[in-house]
Amino acid sequence: MRLIPKIGLVFLLFSGLLFSSEFTNQLKNYPVYWVGKQKYISLQTIVKILGVQSWGRIEDRIFIDYQGKILKGSIGSLDFYIDDKKMLLDAPIKEIEKEVFFPVESFDRILSTITVSQPLPVQPKTSAPQPLPEKEKSVTIEKSGLDRDFVILIDPGHGGKDHGAIGNFGLKEKDVNLDISLRLKNYLTNQFKKLPRIIVKMTREDDRFISLDERVEIAKREKADIFFCVHTNSSRFNRWNADGFETYYPSRKSEINFSTEPESEDVVEPETTTEVVFQIVNELNSTNVIEESRILAEMVQEKLAERLICPDRGAKPASFYVLRYTPMISVLVEVGFICNPNIEANLRDPEVRQAISETLGKAIIQYLRSKKIIE
Ligand SMILES: [Zn+2]
Repeated sequence: MRLIPKIGLVFLLFSGLLFSSEFTNQLKNYPVYWVGKQKYISLQTIVKILGVQSWGRIEDRIFIDYQGKILKGSIGSLDFYIDDKKMLLDAPIKEIEKEVFFPVESFDRILSTITVSQPLPVQPKTSAPQPLPEKEKSVTIEKSGLDRDFVILIDPGHGGKDHGAIGNFGLKEKDVNLDISLRLKNYLTNQFKKLPRIIVKMTREDDRFISLDERVEIAKREKADIFFCVHTNSSRFNRWNADGFETYYPSRKSEINFSTEPESEDVVEPETTTEVVFQIVNELNSTNVIEESRILAEMVQEKLAERLICPDRGAKPASFYVLRYTPMISVLVEVGFICNPNIEANLRDPEVRQAISETLGKAIIQYLRSKKIIE
């Protein structure tokens, strides 16, 4: 049952005169809502005011890591725990329109029992992924050794009716993937503006559904040399503390493997029989397209690790449909865990998205340089 429609929330700014704690003092700049006879604040406001580094939600349970203590409560319940010490709220934690709300006064009372070892930060803080300051100046790449078109096809995962993963606070994977991909395309197009033979395309540039089959067909039709899939991760149980970035490369390529040998996850035969792939592989002077995909995936991880403050989960083989059935170099990057509310908040930030996009672009450029495709 929905407790109260969002539109019915009474918005109230109050001056901090009613309470005396530092927490309450800081509340004056944030919205406070009346629900029945109780004043409520959102979990997001709490996170901002307290500068909480780690917090999350599993089903109805809310966790806040604050000053070395774990605060726990459940939606609909008065019970509240600091580490394992049970306390009672005056009113239950509520969920309204996917946002979680705490009763202000009792939350403040509970908070006052915690010894604050550091002053409360004024600015909201979130942990990774944070973009590090950009030092190098970007210079348009002027030279390439290409005597034909080289197509980089960016594939933003999901779209339309397929939302992909959805964060606890409603951020949809399909939207993050698209925005990062559009920024990546812009970045690369700008970098390659003096190289008309390098063409950057996308499988979708708006919010539309494309089947996996169609994505593979587009990659073939566009004669892509690199098929670059952008996704946002979620863990199987939507773990709130799942963290890190990872990049997949194909464990096998069905389309290009005409060998009668049984396919194996581990043994990679240097079979490259389609014309497109053969051409690339020759030009890249490499053993096969899977190995090249792995090299690119490693570079993506390396660049992301330089830029993001979150765990490097590595480059890994996988037989995802789009990796397996595309006959060209293909990777699939998972830029972060949307099920981690901290990461979700970061992924909403245009600056973080831009940083991730540029980092992905730099990995592609590094790969092209390493193959002498550009100088
Ligand atoms: Zn996805």
